[in-house]
Amino acid sequence: MVKRVYILGAGASAEAGAPMTSQLVRNLLTTELADLKFHSHNDLTVGRHFWNFLRAFVQNDQWTKNASLDPYNAEDLLNLTYTAELSGLRFPAPVSGLFVDAEWVRRMLGWAILMLLESKIAETLPASYGSFARALHPGDSIITLNYDVTVETSLLNLRGTFDYALPRGACVVDWPGVDVLSGTKVLKLHGSMNWMRCFPSEDGQQACGRVFVRPLTKIYSYGGDTFEICSCGQGSLDALIVPPAHVKAFGGTLLERVWRVAAGELRCAVELFVIGYSLPRAAMSL
Ligand SMILES: [Zn+2]
Repeated sequence: MVKRVYILGAGASAEAGAPMTSQLVRNLLTTELADLKFHSHNDLTVGRHFWNFLRAFVQNDQWTKNASLDPYNAEDLLNLTYTAELSGLRFPAPVSGLFVDAEWVRRMLGWAILMLLESKIAETLPASYGSFARALHPGDSIITLNYDVTVETSLLNLRGTFDYALPRGACVVDWPGVDVLSGTKVLKLHGSMNWMRCFPSEDGQQACGRVFVRPLTKIYSYGGDTFEICSCGQGSLDALIVPPAHVKAFGGTLLERVWRVAAGELRCAVELFVIGYSLPRAAMSL
């Protein structure tokens, strides 16, 4: 059997409704908060605060006069947060006259992107996704740069299983009756909107660092002030995603195995298909 590896970029999710990376910030600003599925009143309050920040940010000459920075580009904005962090720069908060940390901006942007995906992606996927899943042969694998769960949904509908290739010992599948560690490999190099990671709640704590895989239709609160506490009692749960920026935050060792498996799959691929991937600037640094 000829081994095929499919590499999926944002374009592969466009038909299902996902916005392109270059359009994320513009999309966020034109989306009504009422159309997003906030999980609590607190999340809505935090969300409103971030949207106000984003609106003020894109209109601020301080950033836009720098010709190399497009404030509407999520990649540029994220890169700026890393530069800001290194140089101790903080961002002006809207209204209050106070400042917000680069880390806050980054976490909120990640959260907002996931909220946007959750609201934009169609609940019933176009037929082409099912056709794609049916066309896969045993041994074929998928490497995706997307956070959304369109591929998994199609495979689950068809075969009831797929393989995230996450490290077994550090992975808790919080999804009754579903096996996400066998079958067609779905290698999510940038994480996934249904993965949560345990990280220390306070400096110096020894969190378990496990990744929790959640049902595709039951995505938990990501970014509000109140994080879900992990069962280890030492950490809180946050989304496990790698932002589209030059500085890659790989989520520690959890994604290492996924990257290693992906490298192995690429090495033994006989045919390689690239779908909807534009090789953005941030990926060139890899
Ligand atoms: Zn934990």
